[in-house]
Amino acid sequence: MPSTDPLIKSLSERDQKHLWHPLTQHKLHPEMLAIVKSKGALLYDEGGNEYIDGIASWYTCMYGHCNDFILEKVHQQMQRLDQVIFSGFTHEPAIRLSEELIKLLPSNQEKLFFSDNGSTAVEVGIKMALQYHFNKEQKRPVMLAFEDGFHGDTFGAMSVSSLSVYNGPFEEFFIAVERIPVPTEQNITGTLAWLTNRLEKNDIAGFVYEPLVQGAAAMKMHDAVGLDKILRLLKRHEVLCIADEVMTGFGKTGKHFASDHITTKPDIICLSKALTAGLLPMAITSCTQDVYDAFYSDDIGKGLFHAHTYTANPLACAAALAGLELLLSDEIQNDIQRIIASHKRFDAEIKNHPKVESTRQTGIIFALELKIEMERYGNLRDKLLKHFMDNGVFLRPLGNTIYILAPYITSNTQLEKIYAAIRSALDVV
Ligand SMILES: *Cc1c(COP(=O)(O)O)cnc(C)c1O
Repeated sequence: MPSTDPLIKSLSERDQKHLWHPLTQHKLHPEMLAIVKSKGALLYDEGGNEYIDGIASWYTCMYGHCNDFILEKVHQQMQRLDQVIFSGFTHEPAIRLSEELIKLLPSNQEKLFFSDNGSTAVEVGIKMALQYHFNKEQKRPVMLAFEDGFHGDTFGAMSVSSLSVYNGPFEEFFIAVERIPVPTEQNITGTLAWLTNRLEKNDIAGFVYEPLVQGAAAMKMHDAVGLDKILRLLKRHEVLCIADEVMTGFGKTGKHFASDHITTKPDIICLSKALTAGLLPMAITSCTQDVYDAFYSDDIGKGLFHAHTYTANPLACAAALAGLELLLSDEIQNDIQRIIASHKRFDAEIKNHPKVESTRQTGIIFALELKIEMERYGNLRDKLLKHFMDNGVFLRPLGNTIYILAPYITSNTQLEKIYAAIRSALDVV
């Protein structure tokens, strides 16, 4: 609780002295909300208010905040081995995680490379693709990506992202990237024709894509059949397919991975966010035996010389193992189906609302586009955000899209509270 003594400052006030926040223009948005506690689907602020975490703190804490099972597993690990270099050393949590995760990933995945976050997972994926061809003495300096993709904020990841409104100062330093639109029934023939022609140059190393749902593009969704055609064509031309499942991984699309909805499997998969169940930062880039073999050589220089200090941190591995155990439990699998069905009922009710332009859903991800004129966009986001927070719900609208990506353990009552906040938001926009 904030002090009633006017001389004692709130966390929110103290924050402003030394902290610089991500994605923030501090002159326009000086105030941050101080969160002091979290449990299950709830966040508690320093004023004693509670909020349902409707976007699972950026798609991470899918089994709920401060999950007792995960905390206990990490606590046990903490007392045995905290951190050790992963070059020249190994440890049981990483080994067990590799065994469990490989069972779950698409069956062509064989090797795991650890790093720290979604951006570095993509960075590693890009480096694998570029060096794969380099090691085979093929000159392939170009990457391919979807329009409107988001893959992170480090240079390689920024380069393949195309939501670049804020990337202006860096664009001239980007790696070479060409883009194709996400598949639709209307454009797929044209895209395949363009690609067939473009692939003749044999200069494309890899294709980075968010399968089925483009998160940062406001949960834009595309169909598996079209994506499958693109992947099949690229594979015939030895372009490595890199599925960025940083957002979609671990059950959110209704299957363990979005790639499970698609026949053609990726060569490389990037994982983070829900990988560690929202407890600790860690990422994995998985790949096929074929990718790994291109680096396996008597020549030391053909190895993948990439490392982060905290690679495969044992505590993060323990959190990931606990998360996997929960994901596979009947309880969580039932919760996923429960939320999918619940969103479907809400969709049927809300989609014909006069203020709703369209709705879409993949698994537990539900998005609703508002019918709103461009000139009213300006403060729409801030107004919606405030409305939701005032109603005890944390949702983070993107443009004119409101989306829900709540933890799997969100109760039916909590879901109803989220829906009610959206219904009443439609009255105020
Ligand atoms: C969040 C995200 C990233 C970047 O992950 P960070 O951990 O924020 O670096 C990359 N790709 C996708 C699809 C994401 O949603």
